[in-house]
Amino acid sequence: MDAYALLASHHLRPTSPRVRILQMLEQEAHLSPEAVYHRWAHEERDLSLATVYRTFAELCRIGLLERHLIGRQRALYTLRQADPTALMRCRQCGSIVEFTDSAISTQQQAVAQRHGYQLQHCRLTLDGLCQVCRNQPGKSPG
Ligand SMILES: [Zn+2]
Repeated sequence: MDAYALLASHHLRPTSPRVRILQMLEQEAHLSPEAVYHRWAHEERDLSLATVYRTFAELCRIGLLERHLIGRQRALYTLRQADPTALMRCRQCGSIVEFTDSAISTQQQAVAQRHGYQLQHCRLTLDGLCQVCRNQPGKSPG
């Protein structure tokens, strides 16, 4: 993941807190704002815990991070996995296959742009029959 490209695609300037948080989360599955602040405060003297909180909240708001509450007080953040482009759902057994397809994503972006939209989240759902169900004769849902 390129933190700079990721931020640019959300029209955010690559400020040092944003880039650092994204890069740290790429290396560690989850982090708390406090941990980031403690690890980092000795390098950047004007860094405040408030800035770290604000940056986490902001990255969360635009969908790059996910917030997980641990108990009542603590929150851990993870990088939000790139949204799968689409999911296929079997109409018979309900099994789900998620997949990412850059051609579809690119096309979705193009359509959105044409309509003046900035996509934040989109997901296609394809209904059908999975291979297992297709191989069971006479069980087609019609
Ligand atoms: Zn099935």
